[in-house]
Amino acid sequence: MEGTGESHLKDAPTVKVFYDDQCEICQASVSWLRLLDRKGRAECVGIHPETVAPYPGLALDRCLQQLHVVDSRGKVLSGWRAVARLARLSPWTWWIGALGSAPPFSWLGRLAYEFVAKNRYAVSKCRGGACHASKPGDVRRRAALAPLWTCYSLGFLLRFPLSLAALVRSFWRHATLLWRTHGCRIDLLRGKLSLVFLNSSTCDVVSLLFGEQFLMILYDGVAIDPGSTRMRRALVRQLDCLPNGTIRAVAATHHHEEHSCNLNWLSTRLGAVPVYLGAETARILESPPIIPRIRRWMIGQPPALRQPFMILERFMPCASTQLEVIAAPGHCDDHIVFYDRAEKLLIAGDAFMGVYFSAPNPDVDSLKWIATLHRLMELEIEILVEGHGFVHTLRADVPDVPGLVARRHPREEIQEKLRFFEWLREQIESGLREGLPLRAVEVSCFPWGRSFAWEQFASDEMARLLSAGHWSRTELIRSFVRLPSDESVLPTVYQARFWRSNESD
Ligand SMILES: [Zn+2]
Repeated sequence: MEGTGESHLKDAPTVKVFYDDQCEICQASVSWLRLLDRKGRAECVGIHPETVAPYPGLALDRCLQQLHVVDSRGKVLSGWRAVARLARLSPWTWWIGALGSAPPFSWLGRLAYEFVAKNRYAVSKCRGGACHASKPGDVRRRAALAPLWTCYSLGFLLRFPLSLAALVRSFWRHATLLWRTHGCRIDLLRGKLSLVFLNSSTCDVVSLLFGEQFLMILYDGVAIDPGSTRMRRALVRQLDCLPNGTIRAVAATHHHEEHSCNLNWLSTRLGAVPVYLGAETARILESPPIIPRIRRWMIGQPPALRQPFMILERFMPCASTQLEVIAAPGHCDDHIVFYDRAEKLLIAGDAFMGVYFSAPNPDVDSLKWIATLHRLMELEIEILVEGHGFVHTLRADVPDVPGLVARRHPREEIQEKLRFFEWLREQIESGLREGLPLRAVEVSCFPWGRSFAWEQFASDEMARLLSAGHWSRTELIRSFVRLPSDESVLPTVYQARFWRSNESD
């Protein structure tokens, strides 16, 4: 099976190590193994369909979950037993392998291993896609980054108290806004536009921590993004307060759960009013992927979309006018926005989420988002309504709602977001050209000298921790270097998790 090393097999048996080369912890462990394995007895192989295929004892999905080692006789060891086997390769770590093979140390070892294996995605900064197998030069380059890390750590220590203070201040701001908007409906433009707040205890936690509001936008008789399953009770309360016949249609800007769970439900409740959505959104929602557990619990799993629904082309009919439908990929591929040319009003959904939004979800493609923002800049917009409640306008007929209405011209806001995105793109492209590891590129995009870097640091890291790495600054960096899906051999860790949860369901 293994052609090389035949002559010294007896005294120095070789082993093949199958590791997840998209996981930074695994990569780091392999770097250590290469350092300790002076005689080169271990051959490290990234887990890919073609590398695993020759070994009938190896299954791709199990290899992605834990380390696998195949010894010279073809015996497969996994998890802690594989670690103990590898430890015996070096005189420095031989004792760990020997002790770790016998109880009670083998039990402890297994427990510790399982803990790390289970949590490595949360700790890992890489999470697949952006970096592939570690190259020999990587280790050298990392060593040369010492000054960067020293400087960054010092900056971190100096600013950490400030960062915490900013976090406390933002909690206070979020709590005040939540208090003010809880269960409310805010009618604007003589009732043509209503922000209908949909609160639920778990969603309120998200609002409190991250400031996102959960709401349905009611515009000229169309209920846009009518919330998630968790918000149904609030939606019922809100519907009871609306005059009969106010809502004549239901629509969604994109497939994310907080926008799309109640499309059929609301339509049925209102006596089969039409449901409108983009073709791509409908395709996704007809068999929606199982979302990660934390999102399922806090917001709710989208149910499969049922007929009847109508696919939007260029216009969406409303009660008194029609809205232009504009494709706006970036936040996710299926995103559309609604534009009222006469009113100069844009219902942007999540296609605009604050200027320095820095911990996005894994389906963001920032390059597409930049192109979308350029296209939105061509529109004449006086009122910009975000999908999470914030309104940007200078118009006097929109009253001041503290914390909710931002008194700034939408064009300026979009322009500033574009500047931020384009600056990030430059930083990332030049970082990657210079061969910096992803983590260092991330640091270079959030220099302590710029206030958004430390003001949002604690809250971004909290998002990373709570979502097990799902919403993070690393995702922002990765969103600039997405590979076209047909080029990537392996699923990203995010997709691998989907597969696992699909299997278990
Ligand atoms: Zn979204």
